[in-house]
This record gives sequence, C-alpha cells and structure tokens, in this order.
Amino acid sequence: MSKTQTDARTDTTCITAGIYRSDCADKERVTMAVGDSFPRCPSCRKAVGWELAVAT
Ligand SMILES: [Zn+2]
Repeated sequence: MSKTQTDARTDTTCITAGIYRSDCADKERVTMAVGDSFPRCPSCRKAVGWELAVAT
C-alpha cells in the first residue's frame, strides 16, 4: 500500500508530511505534519483541496 496522500482536503488528516498548495485561486501553501488536519484556505476561508508540492 502506498502512503502517498491522495485525498487531501480541508478537515481530512494528513498522512504524508510536506508542503501543500491549495487548489483554489489563492495557491496558498501550508506545511503539514502527519496527523494534522488540513485547514481551510487562509485567504478565502473556503474548504479546499490540498496538493502535495514538496514532501518533507
Ligand atoms: Zn483560497
């Protein structure tokens, strides 16, 4: 089983530590650790998808 994060969204739990980029127009970046819950976008405050940009 791959542990690569495939469903990173607001209120889901991070299973792959790294820097994530929001899929809204803001392209915000957040640094996540395993076990953290993905936040809402800091700019538009919407529930968004988070795309793994850099694994750490
Ligand atoms: Zn946003």
